[in-house]
Amino acid sequence: MHCNSSAFPYLKMHAMNQQEYKFEFAVYPSLDQLSEEDAWLLNEAREVTKLAYAPYSNFQVGAIARLSNGELVAGSNQENASFPVGLCAERVLLASASSLYPRVPIDTIAISYHNNNGDSSHPISPCGICRQSLLEYESRVDHPIRLILGGMEGKVYIIPKASMLLPLSFTASDLK
Ligand SMILES: [Zn+2]
Repeated sequence: MHCNSSAFPYLKMHAMNQQEYKFEFAVYPSLDQLSEEDAWLLNEAREVTKLAYAPYSNFQVGAIARLSNGELVAGSNQENASFPVGLCAERVLLASASSLYPRVPIDTIAISYHNNNGDSSHPISPCGICRQSLLEYESRVDHPIRLILGGMEGKVYIIPKASMLLPLSFTASDLK
């Protein structure tokens, strides 16, 4: 498709008003600046990357949740020779949490990764499908899920509420 930049001012000219979406998140230079509890959880996520089954991408993702009842639930990415069958760590975690501790809110999920093909020193963020799943988990139990995102080293992001990553989302209420 040919996309001419002059098309965009036209759209803006006819809009009734402009909306802005903003969210704030915390950036830490490394795990060492986190609270003891958060640093521990991120370290566990780094350990969980070892449980990934990622022979195709060699990109191992580990996620671990602390639930509001104090329990921990882990998830790692699980790939398949039929590529679309593969599951991300976040959704493996959510399915496990929902099965083991139904209706128990998740307070925090730490997500890390080990990239066997290269760098693991910057935070990665959940993919679009996982954002959708995280959002629905939050609304199901009416409780925000805090995310701690970091690689094997380097910067760490803390996002107060997973659904902040998916503005103008499609939700269950749209189906009513
Ligand atoms: Zn995903």
